[in-house]
Amino acid sequence: MRMVRFVALVVAASFASSWPAAHAGQQSALQGTIVSADARRLLVRDDAGRSTAVAIGAKTVCVRGATVLPRCDAQVGERVAIQLEESGATKTATRVTLPAKPAKTATIYVCPMHPEVVLDKPGKCPKCGMTLEPRKATQ
Ligand SMILES: [Zn+2]
Repeated sequence: MRMVRFVALVVAASFASSWPAAHAGQQSALQGTIVSADARRLLVRDDAGRSTAVAIGAKTVCVRGATVLPRCDAQVGERVAIQLEESGATKTATRVTLPAKPAKTATIYVCPMHPEVVLDKPGKCPKCGMTLEPRKATQ
């Protein structure tokens, strides 16, 4: 019994010491709407209007509702919550959380003059006042 406890302690201790080395990058979180998505990269527009490119790597865990996805099938126009790790200028997602139901028919609204202006509902561009044009998600 004593021996088992000792081994468990050693394992726990070695995990604890390897943790900071494996996760040296700065952790942060991001929430917003997906502007573009492919297998390697997500472009997310947060509620403050900033667009952030986040890489999807081998250790990225993608979750839809309570289901872990075999690959990240994020759809344009979906709301997303991302936990990411920053290493220099590279932001890599560690966890991508998508809505429970995939938004197959999601529509985003973009300004014809300002492609960086993307809303998830109709409206006018805050920069030039033009009516935003609906754009269907590509998938
Ligand atoms: Zn505009």
